[in-house]
Amino acid sequence: MAKTRHLLGISGGKDSAALAIYLNDKYPQFDFEYYFCDTGKELDETYQLINNLESYLGKSIKKLENPDIDSTGDNPFDFYYKSFRGYLPSPQARWCTALMKLKPFENFVNGDDAVSYVGIRGDEEREGYISKEANIQSIFPFRKNIWSSDVMTKVFQPENFEMVIDYFQSYYSGNDLDKLVDIFNEPISFDKNHKNEAEKILKRKANSSLDLGIARFNRGVFDFLKTTKYPLAKEIDYVLLENEDVLVRDDIFRILRESGVGVPEYYEKVEFEVDGQKGEYARSRSGCYFCFFQQKIEWVWLYEQHPDLFKKAMAYESEDDLFTWIPNETLKELIQPERIKQIKLGHINRTNKTKTKSSPYLLDILEGTERDGCNTCFL
Ligand code: SF4
Repeated sequence: MAKTRHLLGISGGKDSAALAIYLNDKYPQFDFEYYFCDTGKELDETYQLINNLESYLGKSIKKLENPDIDSTGDNPFDFYYKSFRGYLPSPQARWCTALMKLKPFENFVNGDDAVSYVGIRGDEEREGYISKEANIQSIFPFRKNIWSSDVMTKVFQPENFEMVIDYFQSYYSGNDLDKLVDIFNEPISFDKNHKNEAEKILKRKANSSLDLGIARFNRGVFDFLKTTKYPLAKEIDYVLLENEDVLVRDDIFRILRESGVGVPEYYEKVEFEVDGQKGEYARSRSGCYFCFFQQKIEWVWLYEQHPDLFKKAMAYESEDDLFTWIPNETLKELIQPERIKQIKLGHINRTNKTKTKSSPYLLDILEGTERDGCNTCFL
C-alpha cells in the first residue's frame, strides 16, 4: 500500500514559510514534500524567500511545472492571459488560481493519498482551501482545531453520534464525558438552507470540545477517521494529535526572524506624508505583483516602490475591452496625483480608526480583503 504523502505548499508568503520552519524544527521525523506554484509574476522577495527557505530546510522546494507551457517559452500567467485573449482574472473569474495553482497541485498529487498542511493562523477566522478530491486532506497545525470543516462535519453528523462517542469514550469519562455528550447533542442541521447556521454551530461544537482538552479530542477524531477513506486513516499514529500550540501573527514573524530565513521586505512598513499627515504602507500579501485582491493603497505602494512592476501591470489593462485590474478604474486613473492623495488620506483615516479600535498592526488593515482572497497564493 502506497504511503500517505505529506505536502506543504510554499506560497512565498510569511505564514506558509513559517509553517515549514515550525514543522521541520518540531517534527524532523516527517518527510515533507515542499512545492511552489510559480506564476512567473511574483515579486523578487518571494523568490528570495524560497531560496532562503531551501537553505534552512536543507531540501529543495519543487517548482510545479506544466510541460505544455514550458515548451512555449512563456511563463504561466502570460500563457493563460493570451489564451483568454487578454481577459484579466478577477475575484469572480479566478482562472489564475484554478489554472496556475490548483491544477498543478492536483497533478502533483496525482491521485495519491496526501495530507496538505495549511498555514492559517490561530488568530484567523477563515477556513483554508479544502480540496474536493477525497485523496487530499487538509491539516491546520497553527490552529487549536487542526481539522478541516469537512472532517468536523463528519464527526458532528447526528447519524454518526453513537459511533463517534464510542471512540471518544476511550479518552473521556465522568463529568467530561457528560459535557462532551451535551456538546454533541446540540441540534445541528446540514440542510443546505441552513448552511451559515450549521457552520456557526459546528465551530461552537468543535471549540467547546477542544476546550475539554485538545489532545484527547484529536485522538478521538483520529480513531474515528480510521473508519473513513481520509488519507490519515492509513497512518498508525500521528504526532500532531498531541500538538497544543496555537500560533498567531507575532509568532510567525518571530519564527521567520529567529530562523534567519527573514521576513520578505514587502511586509515592512514604509512611511509616507500627504497634506502634512504621516502614514505608513506596505504590501500585505505574496502572490502576483498585480493581484486584483490588493487594496488601492497597495497599488499606490507598488507604483511608488516598484514603478517598473506597476508599469508592467498597466500594460495588461485594455480600456477598450474594459479589462482592468480594479472594477471601474484603470491604473492610469489611479495614479493621478489627486487620486493618490485621496487614497493615501483614506488609508491614514482607516489606519487611525482601526488602531484605536483593536489592533496595532498595519497588516490587520491591509489584510482586510485577504480573508476573501486566495489562501493558495497568500498564506
Ligand atoms: S496572486 Fe492573485 S493574481 Fe496571482 S494567481 Fe493568486 S489570485 Fe491570481
